[in-house]
Amino acid sequence: MLDKRFIGLAMTGLRSNFGRLDMPYKLTFAITYRCQSRCLTCNIWQMRPKNELTLDEIRSFVQKNPHFKWISITGGEPFLRSDIVDIVKAFYENSKGLYIITMPTNSLCDTKTEAERIERILQTGIPKLSITLSLDGYREMHDKIRGIPGNYDKVIRLCKELSELKKRYKNLFFEFGYTMSRYNQGGLEKTYEEVKKELPGITRNDFHLNLGQISDMYYKNSAEDIKANNEAVAQEIAEFISKRRFKIDAISLLESAFLKKLVQFAKTGKNPMKSRSLDASLFMDSFGDVYPSIMWNRKIGNIREHDYDLKGLWKGSAAEKVREIIKKGEEPPSWTACEAYQCLTGRMPSLI
Ligand code: SF4
Repeated sequence: MLDKRFIGLAMTGLRSNFGRLDMPYKLTFAITYRCQSRCLTCNIWQMRPKNELTLDEIRSFVQKNPHFKWISITGGEPFLRSDIVDIVKAFYENSKGLYIITMPTNSLCDTKTEAERIERILQTGIPKLSITLSLDGYREMHDKIRGIPGNYDKVIRLCKELSELKKRYKNLFFEFGYTMSRYNQGGLEKTYEEVKKELPGITRNDFHLNLGQISDMYYKNSAEDIKANNEAVAQEIAEFISKRRFKIDAISLLESAFLKKLVQFAKTGKNPMKSRSLDASLFMDSFGDVYPSIMWNRKIGNIREHDYDLKGLWKGSAAEKVREIIKKGEEPPSWTACEAYQCLTGRMPSLI
């Protein structure tokens, strides 16, 4: 039987095809910018963040904004927050329609502690928790890109822990998140083959692919940090996804559509679809600054200045100006998992 919250999310996604929602249903929230990685593709790890939102502030935010049905928690490394279980609890207990929480991890925290925290999150009863294990290459490649020797082995170790948890918790989903850049160009198939040796049950469907993106506001990187040969990357993605298994559940169909458009984005560098930012979704960083999306350096305000209530920002003039830009199709190019799914569900007529 379908979960009531899933139906609520699906209906809202469909409704968003017919006009702007009263309040957003999807939030991407960087709960911390702390990170113990040393990635070549992203400079968040160089930040020394101060005055990030506290658990009490996050609780105030959640209580005043209980309309989210889908929350992408991100970082930095989200599991560096020792109160991560309480953060998720606050969202789940206060958001009646919340169906899914997604979270990436670099797997660099103590594996047992991280697995225990994930188990406690699963015990909150959240209908779906989706963990993305960042993996950018086979052993030497991944450790070089991430700048941490032994990181690949920790990813595999955490994946094994999650496989055990999955036997007991039906609400757990996990996959690898592979970010393509000039550092791992041509390495995707070999990575898959190597992972399969350690985890024989893994298929190509367990790899979520991203194209390394440039953002002065979020990743604090530049084209030199990531730029790959677009044609070659597009071909590499296309070849890999052509070998995926065809599945007909809603998430697999969305992922398939996302990946096809990722090939298009890699080739052209142009947005494959208009953004749904400030229409269905928004991004908030760990200081409470609110942006249209994770990739767009166009701050519309700070929730601390609005008593943690988003309404004023959502309906304010700064947000309206951004919507005008989107209407003209002039938003900066990006096609990331954080933004793509609400584009796909909210622009269905254009997919047919
Ligand atoms: S990509 Fe993730 S793990 Fe790497 S520095 Fe950025 S936030 Fe940290």
